[in-house]
Amino acid sequence: MLTGISVALIGGDARQLEVIQKFTELDASVTLIGFDNLQQQFAGVAKAKLSPDALGHVDALILPAVGTDDTGHVESIFSTDEMILTTEHIGALPRHAKVYTGMAKPYLKNLCADHTISVVELFDRDDVAIYNSIPTAEGALMMAIQNTDITIHGSICMVLGLGRTGFTMAKTLQGLGAAVKMGVRKPEHYARAWEMGFIPFYTRDLYQEAANIDLLFNTIPTMIVTAQVIANIPHRAVIIDLASKPGGTDFRFAEKRGVKALLAPGLPGIVAPKTAGRIMANALSQLIQEDFKDRSDVE
Ligand code: NAP
Repeated sequence: MLTGISVALIGGDARQLEVIQKFTELDASVTLIGFDNLQQQFAGVAKAKLSPDALGHVDALILPAVGTDDTGHVESIFSTDEMILTTEHIGALPRHAKVYTGMAKPYLKNLCADHTISVVELFDRDDVAIYNSIPTAEGALMMAIQNTDITIHGSICMVLGLGRTGFTMAKTLQGLGAAVKMGVRKPEHYARAWEMGFIPFYTRDLYQEAANIDLLFNTIPTMIVTAQVIANIPHRAVIIDLASKPGGTDFRFAEKRGVKALLAPGLPGIVAPKTAGRIMANALSQLIQEDFKDRSDVE
C-alpha cells in the first residue's frame, strides 16, 4: 500500500489514467497537475495548477513517458495550459522526493541534479522494456500489414538487433509464419538467433543480406540502414524503424530511391495505451513502494 505517500502527476496521455487508478487503489494521496479537462472521475484525487506550492509536500513526482522536452515543456492531452517545469518547481520538492518518468532528456536530468533530486527512468528497466516490447511488436505488425500487399506469412522479414524489442519482434513474425532473418553483431546473439529458428547473420554483412527481403524492422539505435544498404533492398520492401528518434535509417535516401521507410516511435502509447499504462502503473507502484517503504526516509 502507499498510505501516507503523496504522489503528484504532471501531464501525460491516456496511459496516466491507469497510473492514477492504481495509485488511488493503493491509497496514495494523489494530486493531478495539468488535468483540468479530464472527464473521468477518481475518488479522493485533488487537482492543482503547476506551481512550487503544489509540489512542496510531494514524495513522488510522476512525469509523462517523455518527461519534458529540451526546454522543460511537459505535454498533457488533458489540458490546454502550457506547462514548463522550471528550477523553482524542482527546488520546491522535499529533499527526499524522487522524480519518475519514462525517459529523461538532459534538461530534466540537469534540473534534478541541480537540486540533488533523483530521476528514475522507467524505460531503462529491463522488465519495463520487455513488457513494452509486446505492444511495440504488435504496433509494428499493424504498420507492416497496412503498408504491404502481401501476408506476413510466407514473407521474408529482417529484424536488426536481438535486444528486448528485436527478440519479441522476431518471435511475433515467426509465429505468423514469416521467415525471419536476424541481424546481430555478437556470436552469442548469433547462436541464440539460430537456436530460436531465425536465420542469423552479422550486421557487417547487412548489405548482401538485404537483397531479398520484403520487410525490415530495425531496433538498432544508430545509423545502420545506410544509403548503401537501401540501394540493395528490393523496391517492394518496407522499412519500419523502431529505434528511438532519429532512428537508424537514411530516410532521405529511402525516399529518393522510392523505398517506403517509416519511423515508428512511441508505439505502445499509440496502439495499446491501456496496456502500456498498466505496464507503467505496475512498475511505478512497485518502485515507489520499495523507495518509500521506510517512512523514516521521509522528512
Ligand atoms: P536493447 O535491448 O538495448 O536492444 C538494442 C539492440 O541493438 C541490442 O541487441 C544491441 O546489441 C544492438 N545494437 C546496438 N548497436 C548496434 C550496432 N552498432 N550494431 C549491431 N547491433 C547493435 O534496446 P531495446 O529495448 O530493444 O530498444 C531498441 C530501440 O527501440 C531503442 O532505441 C528504444 O528506444 C526503441 N524502442 C522503440 C519503441 C517504439 O515504440 N518504437 C518501443 C520500445 C523501444 P549488442 O548487445 O551487441 O549491443
